[in-house]
Amino acid sequence: MDRRVVITGGAGFVGSSLCDRFRKDGWRVLAIDNLCTGRRSNLAQLQDDPHFELRIQDICLPFDVEGPVDAVLHFASPASPFDYLKLPIETLRAGSDGTLNCLDLARRKNARFLMASTSEIYGDPLEHPQRESYLGNVSSIGPRSCYDEAKRFAEAATMAYWRTHGVDTRIIRIFNTYGPRMKANDGRVVPAFIRQALLGLPLTVFGDGDQTRSFCYVDDLVEGIVAVLDRGDHMPYNLGNPVEFTMLALVEEIQRQLGPVTIVHRPLPADDPTRRRPDIRRAQETFGWAPTVSLSEGLHLAIEDFRARLAAGTLDD
Ligand code: UDP
Repeated sequence: MDRRVVITGGAGFVGSSLCDRFRKDGWRVLAIDNLCTGRRSNLAQLQDDPHFELRIQDICLPFDVEGPVDAVLHFASPASPFDYLKLPIETLRAGSDGTLNCLDLARRKNARFLMASTSEIYGDPLEHPQRESYLGNVSSIGPRSCYDEAKRFAEAATMAYWRTHGVDTRIIRIFNTYGPRMKANDGRVVPAFIRQALLGLPLTVFGDGDQTRSFCYVDDLVEGIVAVLDRGDHMPYNLGNPVEFTMLALVEEIQRQLGPVTIVHRPLPADDPTRRRPDIRRAQETFGWAPTVSLSEGLHLAIEDFRARLAAGTLDD
């Protein structure tokens, strides 16, 4: 019998890539999404697939799924700073009520459960690079706290279901990820810079541009998620690319691929972490996972996708 996976947030950037991957691997896929930040167009390639289903539903309300389920992957949440600052209460609900409802589903179905956590749970880190054992430097009241604390709650809930009910759980902490299908206007730095460069607009560098991030190509992330689901244990895994760039270095790479750009500095948002880089040794040592796509290769693929959407007039949809 085919295995079956429920993917919440299945119409999102990462969720839809997971839908593709699990279908490719022969799983039946039920995507659940309320489309608050996800888009149907991310799943257009699967719409005629008889083993794929998209259900429009809010996972913050109790829900059930008919039939057997082997795995529940919980990816439903606004995830870009722009989106969660606009939707703070929805973000808190997705991490709290939504996570509990997904854990209850996994428990009822005796399914494996994987929760998408985030590097944001480390806050503005005082330890660098960040290992899974680092407890974080997080504001509970700042503008990002709706996301950071929701994900911290979701991790706590996941561990509680593992300890109390013996649910077979996984936690991944996703660091900055980019690739085709990202919303061009969701405010994240990679899509923002590509969009601005393609439209001949100045690139908006927040602060002096010396803050760092490490950027993981989405296919590398998906590979890591599959490895954690198959071969991981209940303790968290960092998944991200350990190569660190300043935002000004990212501007350089964009210029290398798209030609000269101008930049305009904007104020650094409150709570914006100064440095971020994953220590991925745990995933590397447990199942030999490491990203393989360089920033220049990955940017090239993302730029091609953005160009095609620009030509089709759908870049800002
Ligand atoms: N950033 C920027 N210009 C933009 C958008 C973001 O310089 O137009 C910076 C932002 O201040 C942060 C980094 O890029 O330091 C990554 O931001 P993003 O929103 O992509 O994700 P975050 O890592 O903050 O969640």
